[in-house]
Amino acid sequence: MKVFVTGGAGYIGSVCVEELINAGHAVTVYDNLTEGHRSAVDERAVFVQGDSGKEGGIARAVAAAGPDAILHFAANALVGESMTNPGKYFRNNVAWGLELLEAAVAAKVRKFVFSSTCATYGPPDRVPMTEDLPQRPINPYGESKLMFEKMLNWYHQIHGLEFVAFRYFNAAGASPRFGEHHRIESHLIPNVLKVPLGQAQQCEIFGTDYPTPDGTCIRDYIHIVDLAQAHMLAMAPGKQGFYNLGNGDGYSVRQVIETCERISGCKIPAVEKPRRPGDPPKLVASAQRAITDLGWRPQYPKLEDIVATAWAWHQKHPTGYPD
Ligand code: UDP
Repeated sequence: MKVFVTGGAGYIGSVCVEELINAGHAVTVYDNLTEGHRSAVDERAVFVQGDSGKEGGIARAVAAAGPDAILHFAANALVGESMTNPGKYFRNNVAWGLELLEAAVAAKVRKFVFSSTCATYGPPDRVPMTEDLPQRPINPYGESKLMFEKMLNWYHQIHGLEFVAFRYFNAAGASPRFGEHHRIESHLIPNVLKVPLGQAQQCEIFGTDYPTPDGTCIRDYIHIVDLAQAHMLAMAPGKQGFYNLGNGDGYSVRQVIETCERISGCKIPAVEKPRRPGDPPKLVASAQRAITDLGWRPQYPKLEDIVATAWAWHQKHPTGYPD
């Protein structure tokens, strides 16, 4: 298939592009490189540097590529930042996304795969979380992704656009080639690994008074190669709807730090900080629907293995990508 990948220079997008090309697809990456890195784009892909400020740019790029499918990873994705700059999230994730949807319809794209998030649920009434739980986001990031999900649903009903929206839990780990490098890093695992890399004296724990066994937030970490595999399965004709992607295991911030200590063989001191606004206490997926409907089988469900691949990548790329 011809596949158009927005955000293909970003963390999850880069690994997905690699897997797509390995599977024989022809890929065009569209990325404005504000978050992504040029050197994270597989050299076998066509690269188009986008400029979201330029009107009509995305429509022209989609029309020129003439894709069978669009995989839409490009987004701003930081809970904390969205609580101080909501406009950035609604502009880039919703308004810009709408332009892409219009372009998809105009170019008669057959399949649209969207990176959504467990942050669309807000604090859940029960865990593990199934797709039918009410969606009540508590930060603009989750709200912006929910708004896009709703637009997708209408485009499906009105224009017949077939879509799969994946609600990712916490993406982590690396492929041997591509890993996690955010210019401003706010994610737990890469920040904790800065200590054994010798780039930080200590890591930080945001909130120790949550209603969880050790008082720190619980998340469901999922390997990005497993996320990428789910996208391959979603491209099959007839696959349609909303799917959670997680492993069904919750790990607290303290447990993640302990795992990083075991994998790196290094003591990692942690300082306790106040809660980060917008963080729900516990998010754990049920991915049963993806397992049943898509035949998805995670290869790296264990946190140890996820952290081991992240640690291997960071050791090889201690300062991340060169650009
Ligand atoms: N967190 C932390 N210290 C850090 C980074 C994150 O304690 O340096 C916590 C954060 O408050 C959240 C969890 O770790 O409870 C996962 O955060 P991350 O930013 O990795 O992912 P999110 O769940 O926000 O998508």
